[in-house]
Amino acid sequence: MTNRINYLNKIKTNIDNNLADSTSLIKAFDDMNNGFVNNILVNGSTILFRNTSEMIKNNKKYTYGTHGTPTTNDLCVAISMLERSNETIITCSGLMAITSTFLSILKPNDHALVVDSVYSPLKQFCKVFLTRFNVHVDFFDPRDEYNLKTLLRTNTKLIHLESPCSNTFEILDIHSICKYIKQRSNRCIISMDNSWATPLIYKPITQGVDISICALTKYPTGCSDVVIGSISITKNLSLTFNTFKRTIGITSSSYNCNLILKSLKSTIVRLHHHHNSVVKICKYLTTSHHVDHVFSPILPWSPDHKLWKRDYKLSNGIISFTLKTKKIEDYKRLLDGLKIFGLGWSWGGYKSLAAIADTKHRHFKGKTNNP
Ligand SMILES: *Cc1c(COP(=O)(O)O)cnc(C)c1O
Repeated sequence: MTNRINYLNKIKTNIDNNLADSTSLIKAFDDMNNGFVNNILVNGSTILFRNTSEMIKNNKKYTYGTHGTPTTNDLCVAISMLERSNETIITCSGLMAITSTFLSILKPNDHALVVDSVYSPLKQFCKVFLTRFNVHVDFFDPRDEYNLKTLLRTNTKLIHLESPCSNTFEILDIHSICKYIKQRSNRCIISMDNSWATPLIYKPITQGVDISICALTKYPTGCSDVVIGSISITKNLSLTFNTFKRTIGITSSSYNCNLILKSLKSTIVRLHHHHNSVVKICKYLTTSHHVDHVFSPILPWSPDHKLWKRDYKLSNGIISFTLKTKKIEDYKRLLDGLKIFGLGWSWGGYKSLAAIADTKHRHFKGKTNNP
C-alpha cells in the first residue's frame, strides 16, 4: 500500500483524454508499486497515528474506519468519475441513499416535489417520516411537465426525479426540467435516482442535476450478492453531505465496496448483453395474443422512445407488461408456471426474475400508446 497515486488527478487526465469510461475505470487504478490490476481490499476500524500531535490535528487522509478506508475511497472515486461528480458517499443500500438525501436537505416547513412513478418505498418514507418533521411532499405526473411547474412553491427545497421511472419507465426530460427549475429558484436542489441507467449509461449531473443516486445493488453489483447505494454530489453540496454523513454515521463495508469495484469493471459488457436480450423479449411479447401492453422505452411507439434515443441509447434488462385479462388469478398462473425465471425482487443479477408490480400508490395512471 505504499505511495498510492493521486487517483483523482489521474482520472481527470483520463477524462480529458476522452477515454471511454470503461477504460478509465480500469486504467485509473493501475498501481505500478505492487503490480496487481485489482483494487486492494483494506478492512479496518483503527488507523494508527505517529504521535499525539498528529492524532489531535485529525487531518490525515484516513482517521477512523467509519470515515473511509482505501477500499471505500476507491469506490467513491470510481463512482465520482462515472457520474462526473465532485464526490460520492457510499451508503448501506440504495434506499438509504435516497432517504439520506432527503434528510440532509430538508428541514421543517420545507416542501419537496417527487415524481409520482418513483421507487415506491420512498413514498412510504415521505408519508411516515417526513410528515413527522412537517415537511410537505407533492407528487407530480411524469407525463405532464406543466404539472411539475404548477406545483413548485417558494418553499420547495428539493425536487426528486427518477428516470426512467419505476415499473412503467416514463422518461423525464431531465435537461429541460433542470433548466426550468434553476431559472425559477436558486435555492431548490434537484436529486435524481439514476439506478435504471447507472452512471455508465447516463450522467445526470452533466444535465443540471445536483445529486445523482444509484442503487449499486442492481447492475453495478451484477450478481445479487451485495446491497449498497451511492450519492454523488456537486461541489456546493460537499459540506452539507459530509457533515450529515459524519453526524449520522453513514458508512459502508470495505468488503462490499471491493465487490462492486470488481464487478463495475465489467458492468458495461453485461449491460450490452441485457440490451440485446430486451430487444428479443420485447419482440416476442409485442406479438403475443395474451399481452396487452409492453412497457419499454426501446419500442418505437413508446411515448418515451424519442428521449430514450436522445439520452440513453442503451437499455438495461427490465421489461414490464400487462395481460389482456384483468384477473389476478391469470397473472398468478403465468408467474407460477415459469420454468426458467425465478420469482423474486430486484434486478441486475444473472438470475432472470419475475414479479408483480404494485402501482396502487400512484396518483396518475399513465396513458399507454400501444399500437
Ligand atoms: C432497488 C431500487 C432502489 C433501492 O435499492 P436497494 O439497494 O435495494 O435499497 C432504489 N431505486 C430504484 C429505482 C430501485 O430500483
